[in-house]
Amino acid sequence: MSEALDLHSHVVRGHISITHVSKSFGRFKALDNVSLELPPGSVTVILGPSGSGKSTLLRAINHLERVDEGFIRIDGDYIGYRRKGDKLYELKEKAILKQRTEVGYVFQNFNLFPHLTVLENIIEAPIVHKRLTRQQAIERAGELLDAVGLRHKADAWPRHLSGGQQQRIAIARALALDPRVILFDEPTSALDPELVGEVLDTIKKLARSGTTLVVVTHEIGFAREVADNVVFMVDGKIVEQGSAQQVLNNPQHPRTSRFLAKVL
Ligand code: ADP
Ligand code: MG
Repeated sequence: MSEALDLHSHVVRGHISITHVSKSFGRFKALDNVSLELPPGSVTVILGPSGSGKSTLLRAINHLERVDEGFIRIDGDYIGYRRKGDKLYELKEKAILKQRTEVGYVFQNFNLFPHLTVLENIIEAPIVHKRLTRQQAIERAGELLDAVGLRHKADAWPRHLSGGQQQRIAIARALALDPRVILFDEPTSALDPELVGEVLDTIKKLARSGTTLVVVTHEIGFAREVADNVVFMVDGKIVEQGSAQQVLNNPQHPRTSRFLAKVL
């Protein structure tokens, strides 16, 4: 299983650089001067109470949200901008779409296309973006389905799969464009407890593949085992960040301690 997910481990890419990013909705500041460096191939878990800005941050990294201040870069490419001399210009819609193909996104509610089979869900993007021929896309999808242990479901409809299986397909789909970064927004919180493990195991395998992962989750055990960095957010701010060991075992901020006491 890890073999198929290991295809790109030799490529060092997926450095996310977030610099003084702020975002308001009306007068409400959802992100307040957030800065974060995530090295290529690293796994970062973002923790924080509901409403602290975790999803907004992920959405900003994927252009789903436009920031008001600051910059986000992946491998030096500005998210939403291009540099010309000293100036930054907003990217055109087409360039944004292209840039978004570098970032995979896994949602809480799987968001598989209900009218497409499992295989069709996975091959859609690489064909639409002309990365692969249909035949190549089908071959690649087979490898990805093996990697998530679901090749036998290639012709199934999403609604006939369990939540855990749907999420594993969503992960395979996110991988189909060979992204530099994959963002997970509470990937297990819509699952029945007995299905959480299979999805976390799939993400764990991915964590060893060299793709940069950012995972919003309340699964502290997963963070402890897999995360290189743990970030704790409150009210749109990062109040604490460090190694999993540091933040989870020896939190410095009282809000972090209180939060951990609740979710552990
Ligand atoms: P989290 O994912 O940590 O629960 P979010 O990033 O979803 O938090 O939201 C942070 C805050 O920003 C919340 O108070 C939310 O209501 C607000 N918010 C998020 N998106 C929007 C939006 N499109 N319009 C208005 N308010 C929003
Ligand atoms: Mg959220």
